[in-house]
Amino acid sequence: MINLDSIFSASKEAFLFYKNVSGKEKSEFLEKLAQILEENRSSIVPLAVKESNLPEGRINGELGRTTGQIKLFSNLLKEGSWVEATIDPADPARAPLPKADIRRMLTPLGPVVVFGASNFPLAFSTAGGDTISALAAGCPVIYKAHPAHPETSRKVADCIHQAILKAGFPSAIFTHLEGGIEIGQGLVKHPTAKALAFTGSHAGGKALFDLANQREEPIPVYAEMGSVNPIFTFAHKLEKELLPLAKAFIGSLTLGVGQFCTNPGLIFVPESQAKAFENAIAAELNDIASAPMLHPGIAQAYYDSIQYLQSREELRWVKVADSKHLLNGSTALAEISASDWLKDTVFQKEVFGAFAMMVVYKNQDELLAIAEKLHGQLTITIWAEAEELKTQLYLINLLEEKCGRLLFKGVPTGVEVGYAMQHGGPYPSTTDSRSTSVGAFGIKRFTRPIAFQDMPFELLPDALKDDNPLGITRLMNGKFEG
Ligand code: NAP
Repeated sequence: MINLDSIFSASKEAFLFYKNVSGKEKSEFLEKLAQILEENRSSIVPLAVKESNLPEGRINGELGRTTGQIKLFSNLLKEGSWVEATIDPADPARAPLPKADIRRMLTPLGPVVVFGASNFPLAFSTAGGDTISALAAGCPVIYKAHPAHPETSRKVADCIHQAILKAGFPSAIFTHLEGGIEIGQGLVKHPTAKALAFTGSHAGGKALFDLANQREEPIPVYAEMGSVNPIFTFAHKLEKELLPLAKAFIGSLTLGVGQFCTNPGLIFVPESQAKAFENAIAAELNDIASAPMLHPGIAQAYYDSIQYLQSREELRWVKVADSKHLLNGSTALAEISASDWLKDTVFQKEVFGAFAMMVVYKNQDELLAIAEKLHGQLTITIWAEAEELKTQLYLINLLEEKCGRLLFKGVPTGVEVGYAMQHGGPYPSTTDSRSTSVGAFGIKRFTRPIAFQDMPFELLPDALKDDNPLGITRLMNGKFEG
């Protein structure tokens, strides 16, 4: 029987210690964790392959991505300036009133709840970006494992506990829990929880967001709920690069059996190029074999969505999914006119898997109407020649309002983990477009600003001390220094 009160109580106690641990010590802890995960590669990888149906090469790569992002946060902590230290020194001589000494920085929120994702058993799960950015910020994590990969999750949790032990931190800075909806909802409702991070379905993310807002003390919910990641294509670009673009599109659509939140499920194609592009992508699709999806529930949801779309007469099917082997995700492609697409928002609902809708537009008016109608997205991609882009400044302006990342080259899958990455867009792709769940700025989700006014200098955190012992960049009286 899981007792959430005692779990949160231990977590809170651990927080009061952990929030004061220096960036250097947290950085060393994270490096140790990356090392322990690497040392356990040969046991983690087969477990994750078995539980996710993903190929060994992909899982090996995902473990590298996981340790890579741990090192990114370790480096961020070592550098230290991420706390946004800001100092307005006192001016006792100011008239008519003396000015107080005010010093502001980011401080960790407290115990946070993280839900693991099914489609990244490592990089968005137990020691994934949400857990690591919260730990880097100084927040204990209470982690709900995704039921699709329990053994992998336990193994990785064990690695985290080994690293905590080596660092000498309280073990309650990370708690691994398994359980269903009731446990998940109990975590979100618990009064000691200070934030929630989630990656998964729109239904799940929105339900947890609503629950968090019904609490007596509402808390921030960082739910990443997927996206259809539209690609806008233009005539000259397609004329010049038809085959490579068709190949790139199908590669991105079908990567990992389409089970990425950034896979492009929607592509807008000008009428003049529609037939040629359709032929090119249909030829590419024929070469893609179906492969097992993550779990039977996800495969079922994929085929249910396709079955519904097949009942819609507006769609013309270029390739129909073969649902003979239910766990296997078979690719599918349908075509629709822009005028029909504009009539019903169901045509921009995410179908999680290797399905795409090709929307054929006739003119600029339709393109602008599409951009207006489009829901919030993680990414939008534009494939246009330089001279075409010059004529699309208004469209680009509209599209900036609809996404977190706007690409002018390449495909949306393959999210770089770095300092400048933004993985989070306007609703419904996430519940908070001001945040990212990939990259260094993910740490900010688990912090709040605090200002110290006239605090005795010896009590100030190092980040705010006069002599800047951490050597970080700070905003001093309105000017960046350091
Ligand atoms: P999910 O159904 O959203 O579940 C994710 C996690 O949230 C699980 O731990 C689940 O708990 C929990 N959960 C879901 N609804 C809940 C609720 N109402 N109250 C409390 N907890 C709740 O996602 P999934 O199992 O990974 O896959 C289902 C669908 O999600 C896919 O078909 C796909 O459409 C979408 N998906 C999207 C992304 C993305 O990148 N945004 C990633 C993966 C999946 P239990 O399972 O224990 O009930």
